[in-house]
Amino acid sequence: MINQYLLKEVISHFDFVGSLLKCEPYGSGHINDTYLLEYKIPHMGVVPIILQRMNTNVFKKPVELMENIMNVTSFLREKITENGGDPERETLTVILNKAGKPYYKDSEGNYWRAYHFITCATGYDEVKCDEDFYQSALAFGKFQSLLADYPAEKLHETIPDFHNTKARFAVFKDAVEKDVCHRAKDVQAEIQFVLEHVDLAHVLGDMQASGELPLRVTHNDTKLNNVLIDDKTHQGICVIDLDTVMPGLAINDFGDSIRFGASTGAEDEKDLSKIECDMHLFEVYTKGFIKGCDGRLTDEEIKALPLGAKVMTLECGMRFLTDYLQGDTYFKTKYPTHNLDRCRTQFKLVSDMEKKWDTMNEIVSKYNI
Ligand code: ADP
Ligand code: MG
Ligand code: MG
Repeated sequence: MINQYLLKEVISHFDFVGSLLKCEPYGSGHINDTYLLEYKIPHMGVVPIILQRMNTNVFKKPVELMENIMNVTSFLREKITENGGDPERETLTVILNKAGKPYYKDSEGNYWRAYHFITCATGYDEVKCDEDFYQSALAFGKFQSLLADYPAEKLHETIPDFHNTKARFAVFKDAVEKDVCHRAKDVQAEIQFVLEHVDLAHVLGDMQASGELPLRVTHNDTKLNNVLIDDKTHQGICVIDLDTVMPGLAINDFGDSIRFGASTGAEDEKDLSKIECDMHLFEVYTKGFIKGCDGRLTDEEIKALPLGAKVMTLECGMRFLTDYLQGDTYFKTKYPTHNLDRCRTQFKLVSDMEKKWDTMNEIVSKYNI
C-alpha cells in the first residue's frame, strides 16, 4: 500500500481545484494502482478525478508511454469533436502536473498521472451478455477508425516486440533447448504442437513486411473492462487503459479479443472438452468490430481477421508453455502446472479454430460489405 504522506506529496504536485473530500483505491485493474479522488468546488459540486501510480515494472519507459497517451488522446479529441461527439466522455483527458508535465515523479521514484473521471459509465469485468461483448467490439473497432490516419510508426513501443510472434517463437525454442527445469520431457505433445504450427509464428510478420497488412495504432489490451459503458444508454463510450497503445496490426487487437472473449471456458480450465471457440460469440464480435471500423480496414485486413484470432491464440499458448519450461517466472501461477493448463486451453482453441475455419471465414465475409 502507498503511504498517506506519499499520496499527499503526489496530490500537492497536481493542479487539482477545490478541497479534497475523498481519496480511495478504485476499480479492478491489475496493472496500475488506481485511486478515485473527490474534490468539492464551491458552486460546482463534487468533481471526481482518477489518480494512478503507473506500473514501471511492466512499463519501463513511463515518459515515452505518457508521450504516446498525450499524442493519441489529443488526436482522438480532435476527431471526436469533428464528428460531433463529446471528447470529455469519449476519450481520456490527462490532467497536467503543476510543472506542466503529464506525469509526476515522486520522491521514491514512482510515476503518477491523473485523468478526468468519466462519470455515469462502468467498465465491466465479465461478459454477462452478448450485448456487452458487441459494445466492446464496436468501441475497439471505432478506436481503429478514429486513429486510421494517425502515423502509427511515430508511437513508442511501450513493450518491445509485444506481438512479434516470430521473436516469441525464438524465445520458446531457446526455452526448449535450455530446459532449465527438466520439464520438456513431460510436455512433448505441447512442444510438438508449437513446432507443427511454426508457420503461424511467421505469417503476420511476413504479411506486414510485404505491405499486405498496414501498421496501425493498436490497443493491445482489449479486455471488456477497458471500455467504459454508459450507464444509461449501455453503449460503449470510451476506450481506456492506453498504456499498451503501440504500432501493430489491427487483426491482433481483434484476435486477442476472440482468444479470451469467444472461448467457452476459463483460460486455465483443466477439462479441455469444455473449451471451444464459440461461433456465435465470434460472430457477435466480428459484426461489432467491422461496423466500428467503419470502412477503414482494408479488404486484406478484414479477410485476415480469422488468422489474427488463430495467431494470437497460438502466441499466447506458446508464451504460457515457454514460461512453464522456464520455471514460471513471468505469469503469476497458483499451482505448479498452472501455466501448462493455460497453454493447453490455448492450443485446444487453436485446434478448434482449425476445425471451424470455413465457418469463421464465412462469418467474416458476411459482414465484409
Ligand atoms: P489497469 O492497467 O490497472 O487495468 P486502468 O487504466 O484500466 O488500469 O484503470 C483501472 C480501472 O479504473 C478501470 O478498469 C476503470 O474502472 C477505472 N478508470 C480508469 N480510468 C478512468 C477514467 N478516466 N474514468 C473512470 N474510470 C476510470
Ligand atoms: Mg485496465
Ligand atoms: Mg492496463
